[in-house]
Amino acid sequence: MTQPIIELRDVQKHYGEYHALRGITADIGQGEFFSLLGPSGCGKTTLLRTIAGFEGVTSGAVLIDGKDMAGVPANLRPTNMVFQSYAIFPHLTVAENVGYGLRRRTDLNRQAKEVLVGEALEMVGLDGFGKRAAHALSGGQRQRVALARALILKPKVLLLDEPLSALDKKMRDQMQVELIKLQRHVGITFILVTHDQEEALVMSDRIAVMFDGEIAQMDDPEVLYRRPNSRRVADFIGVMNFLPASVLSESGDRIEIEVNGLGRVEIGTDQAPLAGANGGTSVGFRPETLTILYEGQTSNDHIAQGVVEEVVYYGDMTYYDVRLDGAETPVRISMRNLFGRPVLEIGTRARIAWNPGALVLFR
Ligand code: ATP
Repeated sequence: MTQPIIELRDVQKHYGEYHALRGITADIGQGEFFSLLGPSGCGKTTLLRTIAGFEGVTSGAVLIDGKDMAGVPANLRPTNMVFQSYAIFPHLTVAENVGYGLRRRTDLNRQAKEVLVGEALEMVGLDGFGKRAAHALSGGQRQRVALARALILKPKVLLLDEPLSALDKKMRDQMQVELIKLQRHVGITFILVTHDQEEALVMSDRIAVMFDGEIAQMDDPEVLYRRPNSRRVADFIGVMNFLPASVLSESGDRIEIEVNGLGRVEIGTDQAPLAGANGGTSVGFRPETLTILYEGQTSNDHIAQGVVEEVVYYGDMTYYDVRLDGAETPVRISMRNLFGRPVLEIGTRARIAWNPGALVLFR
């Protein structure tokens, strides 16, 4: 990570009896795209608001750029926030909306303000839109106006509270890519609050997964996806299959396990996060780490056998729910549909190739 711009030191927040943040400690780097991801009510908005200065902390500290922010009001912090309902004034022009925060700045003359507005509009790809009426913009364009307005004073950190949730799926996908480009272009730290795991995976350099006012895991998207540190994190991010397992022996950095449906296998200790609160021993693996073998197809991986119980066709992909011999519940396997290869039918017996390296042991 680069030099931290935000340092959170054991941040606690109580609302009366309610303990909303339970000791948040994290460093967020300069120029990082960082996401706070978690289910509704886990405290991510509260944490964002304590960084912005809209909420005080009960104990602990928020440092921005090395300075303790205790007692520093929101308008004097080097941060700015973009909200879900991106309060655009429909009766003003785009330029008036973007320059709204400058209206009381007596140190800037009209021309200087126009330059700043022009730069901000260019930053978000809306140059030439300044004179348009704000009510005549699409949802995505309005969101860009809100971004331009937040960026015009060149904050060191931009805080984004579910900024894309009001957009339809197609527009959201497009804006995700635009936001990443924008962040790279302006080079400042973005902190995004989202409950959408796909959005967090697509956009972030690092993600903090939060449950019940705590950070459960903080890692880059790939580590989070491949090596979740608990069943709860694994379950929240993407689809994870779980099969009951037992540990047979451990020596050095190897663990021998027995998995219902997959049999005995050795894995590395790096595939077994620290034990705790996982509700019994199981292994987890992603749907794309298993491959159904077609007749005559061979593989150097381990082979299991099973029966296809459900088929869900997605065009480019098919999801198969396969009950492995010796397992009580089916596992989901995703297969890319290749031209000329038929989709398997329910009831087909299949051989399945799998790799022990893709397993994660939870205990
Ligand atoms: P969502 O995605 O639904 O916005 P969140 O993870 O952002 O959820 P927060 O808004 O941070 O969650 O809220 C965390 C908890 O703190 C919730 O249980 C909420 O009811 C509570 N809470 C938030 N603000 C206040 C407040 N001003 N007074 C009392 N309780 C609050």
